[in-house]
Amino acid sequence: MALRILVAGGAGFIGSNLCERLLADGHEVVAADNFVTGRESNVAHLVQNSRFSILRLDIVSPVPELGQFDRIYNLASPASPPGYQRFPIQTLRVNSEGSRHLLELATRDGARYLYASTSETYGDPLEHPQVETYRGNVSSTGPRSMYDEAKRFGEALTMAFLNDRGTDARIVRIFNTYGPRSDPRDGRLVPNFVTQALRGEPLTVYSDGSQTRSLCFVSDLVSGLIAAMEVEDARGEVINLGNPEEHTVLEYAQLIIGLVGGSSTIVYGPPAVGDDPQRRRPDIRKARSLLEWA
Ligand code: NAD
Ligand code: UDP
Repeated sequence: MALRILVAGGAGFIGSNLCERLLADGHEVVAADNFVTGRESNVAHLVQNSRFSILRLDIVSPVPELGQFDRIYNLASPASPPGYQRFPIQTLRVNSEGSRHLLELATRDGARYLYASTSETYGDPLEHPQVETYRGNVSSTGPRSMYDEAKRFGEALTMAFLNDRGTDARIVRIFNTYGPRSDPRDGRLVPNFVTQALRGEPLTVYSDGSQTRSLCFVSDLVSGLIAAMEVEDARGEVINLGNPEEHTVLEYAQLIIGLVGGSSTIVYGPPAVGDDPQRRRPDIRKARSLLEWA
C-alpha cells in the first residue's frame, strides 16, 4: 500500500538514504529540513520524482498545514560531535520542541511515529555490549550533554505521548552509521579517515585509538528503520539498530589505509573533545527477534 510519509531531517545523511528507499518502495515522501547540517545536494537526485517534495522547514517552529500523513520519521537533529557542539541550543530545541510538534502531528493524523535516538543515550557505557535495558552513564553537563540529554528527553517525550495520548510511537537507538552522502566535513570517523586517505594525508587518530566503535552501513540501517516503523509489535518499543562487529579506531584507520592503498601514515592527536565513549557495541537481539533484522 502506498503511504504518505514525512521525513524530518530528510536532507541529511541517513534521511536522504531513507527518502530514496521509501520512494523506490512506491510511497509519497515529504522531506522537511532546515539544512543546518543537511545539504540540498543530498536530495537533488530525488526532486524530479513527482512523489517527492523537499520543504525548507525548521521543526522547532510550529509546523504549517501539510496535509495528512500515515508515517512520520523524526531524524531531525545535528548528529556528529562537532555538529552538535557547534549548535548546542538548536540540538536541544529540535529534539524537545521540534519532537513535540511532530508528535502532535502524528497524534492528530493517527500516523505512526518513529524517533531516531542514539547509542549516545548510553553515554560512556559501563555495561558492554549495550542492551536496551541499560540506563547509561551520561553527563548532564559535559561536552556531549546537549546531544545525549536532548535525545534522552526526546525518548521520554515519545513515551509520554504514547502513554498519555495513545500515539503510535516507537524509538530506535542508532549506533554509528556510515556510507554514501555522509558529510565529509562533519568530523566523524569514516568520512575523516576516508577523505584523509584519499588525499594522502595522515589519518588523525584521537588519543591512542584503543577506543572502539561498531559501524553499520547506511542501507542496512535504513532497512532497520523501515522494519521498526512497519512491524506492528514495535509500537512502544525501544530498539537498538547497529552492527555488533566491534573494532578499535586504530583498526579502522589501518583498514581504510589498506583499502585506499595510498601512502598515508597515522598521527595520534589529542583526545576528542571530552567524554569520548571508550567502548560501544550494540546488543541487537531485540531487533533480530522483533524485526527479523540484523
Ligand atoms: P545529519 O546531520 O546528516 O542529518 C540530520 C538532518 O536534520 C540534517 O539534514 C539537518 O539539517 C536536519 N535538521 C536539524 N535540525 C533541524 C530542524 N530544527 N528542523 C528541520 N531539520 C533539521 O545526521 P544523520 O547522521 O543523518 O543523523 C540522522 C538522525 O539519526 C539524527 O537524529 C541523529 O541524531 C541520528 N543518529 C545518527 C547516527 C549516525 O551514526 N549517523 C547515530 C545515532 C543517531
Ligand atoms: N575519531 C578519531 N579521529 C577522527 C574522527 C574520530 O580518532 O578523525 C574517533 C573519535 O575519537 C571516536 C570515534 O572515532 O572515538 C568515533 O567518532 P565519531 O565522531 O565518528 O562518532 P562518535 O561515536 O564519537 O559519536
